[in-house]
Amino acid sequence: MIAIISDVHGNREALEAVLQELDRLKPDAVICLGDNVGYGPEPIECIDAVRQRCTVTVCGNHDFALIYGANGFSPVARASIEYHRSIIMPRPDQDDADRRERWQFLKEMPYRHVRGEFLFVHGAPRNPVTEYLRKIDVLLGMNKKLTENFQQVDWLCFIGHTHRPGVITPDMRFLEPGEMRGVFEPKPRQKAIINVGSVGQPRDGDWRACFVTFEEGGRVRFHRVEYDIDSVVAKIRATGSIDDSLADRLRRGR
Ligand code: ZN
Repeated sequence: MIAIISDVHGNREALEAVLQELDRLKPDAVICLGDNVGYGPEPIECIDAVRQRCTVTVCGNHDFALIYGANGFSPVARASIEYHRSIIMPRPDQDDADRRERWQFLKEMPYRHVRGEFLFVHGAPRNPVTEYLRKIDVLLGMNKKLTENFQQVDWLCFIGHTHRPGVITPDMRFLEPGEMRGVFEPKPRQKAIINVGSVGQPRDGDWRACFVTFEEGGRVRFHRVEYDIDSVVAKIRATGSIDDSLADRLRRGR
């Protein structure tokens, strides 16, 4: 079994609850689809736990923005990235080995990871860091966009980025975890793009941390885990640098 997590966004409580569940499930590998930073109060703790626990971590758009600049970000998202950069980036006047190693890790994250017939990216197969693949693309019949993305996929592709779990199929359907009772069974050779949802800031109306396991026999299972949301909300407010709206949205799961 492999587990796939994404979009932790500095939410240590949510990540720890997921890692506890993974201790129980004992996957052979854990793959992280990026965005450990941005929005939440404890990005350093999240980066370090992911570095320790995950086999591979690919680069998300917030990770990219942390290093190269938050171009195109909303003011609220930009402010949280700038706060994160101030506490993560190595300081030239100080010899801080932990910060330098962490920064190096962030700079070296690959944009995509391939494992046999599986592709792992943050955003989309075609544009791995920034492109969004949403349910609305399916509903609006964005066939060229979807076809070009499926051309990059051998069998299954795992993505994050939208914080909304679900499965996109080549016959242009978007399957919600709820309508599949939390389990998707891909057919051999039938491609699918699987959004694993978000650990630290779900936006599908369910506040609980989300992740996916891919089990022997080819079963994709969507998991939800409760965590101490009051603790994260209090930490966001205590930073003074992260907008309160980012605390409120955690409770709404939107
Ligand atoms: Zn994200």
